[in-house]
Amino acid sequence: MDFTLSPAQLELQERARVAGEAIRHRAARWDRENHVPYQEVVDHVRNHDLLALTVPVEYGGKGLSALDYLVVVEALFRSSQFWIVGEPVFATAGPGPSMMLLAENPATREKFLPGLVKGEQQCAIALTEPGYGSDLTSLETTAVKDGDSYIISGDKNFVTGAQVNDLYAVFARFDDIPGHRGIGAVVIEKGTEGFHIDDGPEFLGCRGVPHGDLRIEDVRVPAENVIVGPGKFAKLMSAFNMERLHNCGFNLGMASAAYDEAQKYVSERKAFGRPIAEFQSVYHTLVDMWTDIEALRLMAQRAACTAGDGSHPKVLETTAAKLYGARVASGITLKALELHGGYGATTGYPIERLHRDVVATIVAGGSPPVLRNSIAATLMPDTRISQRG
Ligand SMILES: Cc1cc2nc3c(=O)[nH]c(=O)nc-3n(C[C@H](O)[C@H](O)[C@H](O)COP(=O)(O)OP(=O)(O)OC[C@H]3O[C@@H](n4cnc5c(N)ncnc54)[C@H](O)[C@@H]3O)c2cc1C
Repeated sequence: MDFTLSPAQLELQERARVAGEAIRHRAARWDRENHVPYQEVVDHVRNHDLLALTVPVEYGGKGLSALDYLVVVEALFRSSQFWIVGEPVFATAGPGPSMMLLAENPATREKFLPGLVKGEQQCAIALTEPGYGSDLTSLETTAVKDGDSYIISGDKNFVTGAQVNDLYAVFARFDDIPGHRGIGAVVIEKGTEGFHIDDGPEFLGCRGVPHGDLRIEDVRVPAENVIVGPGKFAKLMSAFNMERLHNCGFNLGMASAAYDEAQKYVSERKAFGRPIAEFQSVYHTLVDMWTDIEALRLMAQRAACTAGDGSHPKVLETTAAKLYGARVASGITLKALELHGGYGATTGYPIERLHRDVVATIVAGGSPPVLRNSIAATLMPDTRISQRG
């Protein structure tokens, strides 16, 4: 077992670090104004050659591994200290493109992947509905076949980057088939008649582009926009292991950034005539933060390494790593905030933003209890884990 990154991975990590650091000074303003010049961020990430990382070379992507992806996003988040720089990476290699690679119809891949790999188009994901978040398999958005096309109707909310993306991988129920068996995914293109995008509620963290709402009113899509039809829910969800890996990279990067800020602060701040870093409870706190980050990194890297050639990371390892990240990351950012004393609660230091961004994502991509249910179903296959009332 070799835990060292290869020279190519170290180069990738350094490139991501440089890309993130270049925009760090803008994070506070983007967060405060709740506005990001998103196209600039996309161009910036493209200029550092960090788009379509895991899309195979035959489709114009970089053909890199899930571990490479994790290394990049961790470095981007750590050095930028803000969530937005990871979005173009996610939207060009995360679950949207990953689902398209699973598409049985080659026309789907040929239609959408060329634009995605160049960053000319980006794909948001739309699973959550106002009435169904964790209870995804009850979703009510419908896909009804009409001749050669499908008519899609329903409401989606909390869609990250709702306004700034071009494609929307929308989960829908086909042919009124109940439960998970009826669920598939289709691509809706921005500008299609009947497709409306609203800003949605304001978030406490991960601000700057809306996590918006979609109103889908009898939107007609051609058959090649069907990514995966009904009866293949498990296959469809395997693409979301890339989202969970992204969540791990986010928690790793942001927790590490919080550690960096805390270490710097306690070395400079003095109390009782000495740097506060010299108090045992302070350096013990830093050690505990560092240890949790190391443990999360090991779990996340192991999860990434379960992705074989052309496949996604395995569900058990990725879910466990995401769960661990959700449990420890906000504790780390809160400890870092506390080490800043009263200044940690002010907008004069980045730590309060790091904490808000981490808190905002605790339930994104699956809340901790839902992740525990998923893990329990694997650990105890003979126990009935169904949550239905
Ligand atoms: C920052 C952010 C970005 C997001 N981006 C997207 C996106 O791009 N696309 C998208 O589709 N969605 C997105 N979401 C939505 C996210 O996936 C949902 O919020 C999440 O799945 C939870 O759904 P919910 O909010 O409806 O909460 P609910 O499902 O109503 O859950 C409420 C509470 O009940 C608990 N709970 C529910 N069921 C169970 C159970 N069986 N056992 C124990 N406890 C349970 C939950 O853990 C939670 O604490 C985003 C959310 C956030 C916060």
